[in-house]
Amino acid sequence: MTPSVSFQTSNFIRDIVLEDLKAKKYDSRVHTRFPPEPNGYLHIGHAKSICLNFGLAAEFGGLCNLRFDDTNPTKEEIEYVESIKEDVRWLGFDWGDRLFYASDYFEQMYQYAVQLIKDGKAYVCDLSADEIREYRGTLTEPGKDSPYRTRSIEENLDLFYRMRKGEFEEGSRVLRAKIDMASGNLNMRDPVIYRILKAEHHRTGNKWCIYPIYDFAHCISDSIEGITHSICTLEFEDHRPLYDWFLNELNVYHPQQIEFARLNLSHTVLSKRRLVELVEQRYVTGWDDPRIPTLSGLRRRGYTPETIQNFCERIGVAKRNSMVDMALLEHCLREDLNKSAPRVMAVLRPLRVVIDNYPENQVEELEAINNPEDFGMGTRKVPFSRVLYIEQEDFREDPPKQFFRLAPGREVRLRYAYFIKCVGVVKDEQTGEVVELHCTYDPKTRGGDSPDGRKVKATLHWVSAAHAIKAEVCLYDHLFVKENPGDEKDGRDFKSFLNPKSLEILTSCRVEPSLAGAVPGSRYQFERLGYFCVDSVDSSDGALIFNRTVTLRDTWAKIEKSQK
Ligand code: ATP
Ligand code: MG
Repeated sequence: MTPSVSFQTSNFIRDIVLEDLKAKKYDSRVHTRFPPEPNGYLHIGHAKSICLNFGLAAEFGGLCNLRFDDTNPTKEEIEYVESIKEDVRWLGFDWGDRLFYASDYFEQMYQYAVQLIKDGKAYVCDLSADEIREYRGTLTEPGKDSPYRTRSIEENLDLFYRMRKGEFEEGSRVLRAKIDMASGNLNMRDPVIYRILKAEHHRTGNKWCIYPIYDFAHCISDSIEGITHSICTLEFEDHRPLYDWFLNELNVYHPQQIEFARLNLSHTVLSKRRLVELVEQRYVTGWDDPRIPTLSGLRRRGYTPETIQNFCERIGVAKRNSMVDMALLEHCLREDLNKSAPRVMAVLRPLRVVIDNYPENQVEELEAINNPEDFGMGTRKVPFSRVLYIEQEDFREDPPKQFFRLAPGREVRLRYAYFIKCVGVVKDEQTGEVVELHCTYDPKTRGGDSPDGRKVKATLHWVSAAHAIKAEVCLYDHLFVKENPGDEKDGRDFKSFLNPKSLEILTSCRVEPSLAGAVPGSRYQFERLGYFCVDSVDSSDGALIFNRTVTLRDTWAKIEKSQK
């Protein structure tokens, strides 16, 4: 399968690839990889990396691997591996037969570590983690050599072998690269390469009790797979000298690491650590909670893969960190759904309306357009009868100045139906709440057209009470009230910015009968209300549950203007 959007838009990484192709570097190959750590579900930040890596490979006739960076057995689970595969496929990308695991290379990595020891480039260090930190120095002060730095090659080989055999306790020893304790780059101050972890690994079981750290495992995996462009996020810029050091010292095939700015999105968090916290501590219902920016959450919310690909293309690839407004993502979503989602009528908070002069048992099938943006999507019939529901907020007994919808004595249009006029209001005797309206209709306005040029100021959506289907609707708002909840500079935990009103559940909604049997995952525009999607988890034959994907109000244009 080829992605529906490839990265045609120019960006600095694409320019590097173009240059390399021109210079016939790497035999004119383009081979990228997407290397998630299976310690959580993928989020939209990962989507940016997926689109970039798979997109570049697709554009230049190259290959892109899916590689699980499974070098930390304590936080990784098979559930995550499966969800990641599903999400990458859903986004529209295919790794063919190139599904790899860093753990497949553990033996090779071990041999490379032995090679470094033999070359006098690595040593076993008995300092504790705290001592290693102390010895490392700071940005302004050089580090101090470990007293174990001068161990003989023979002793190092013996100790490292016995580390592998499980003879030592966790934390008692590590293998470190011997680089430079005075380097201006802290990552080069004899970084740890292997640590003892007596944990079961989801693929290698108990075969290993020493595990390589990310920097060592990553460059070797890239090298083994013949990756040409190893694309990662900006935090790894300071690790690049180490990436290059390992591959140079080992004298093996050497891909180039290129860093780009990670995606930050407003009003949410894009860090697996924080997402794990939200899920495990049940601030949200799960990894697919429609309020979180995981791909499974976005999918359940009603996002399409096309929207996400489009968004990733729009935001581009930069070298400097910035924050993208959620409004842009929602703008891309509306653009997509405006064209693709059929329109229907649904009433979220029903108010009963009786049309006094409409014959008791009459039902008319009125024609409604499925999508005025695309007449090819055809029309459907909507039943009209004497008793209807309209939206509670479309009626005001005492309308303020700017309120043009229904009020006593006032006439409005019912979409695709008739003009109706409010002639009576029934209230609950106890609460005073309006529970029913009485209206008359004008038979000459069938289809919603005025016969005599008479104007009405509002068009309302409605459903026929006898024909409508009951439904539950989940309304979502930002999960966080703060634009950047992850920025904890003011000392407050990100969870203190959770939006208490991020979910409102409406249980007595009514939708038009054409939605009977609506397929889970299918998306609609509820006229005047927004885009909604049939929930794919909790909906069943008996119960229709909709998630509000996004409202109709597009705030992006305003933001864009203010930024200019
Ligand atoms: P997190 O910071 O969310 O825990 P991570 O970087 O630890 O993410 P990995 O599983 O290691 O997660 O990421 C796999 C790939 O996705 C990496 O190449 C990483 O750079 C990229 N990636 C992760 N987050 C983002 C993001 N917000 N924007 C762009 N790329 C990202
Ligand atoms: Mg990571």
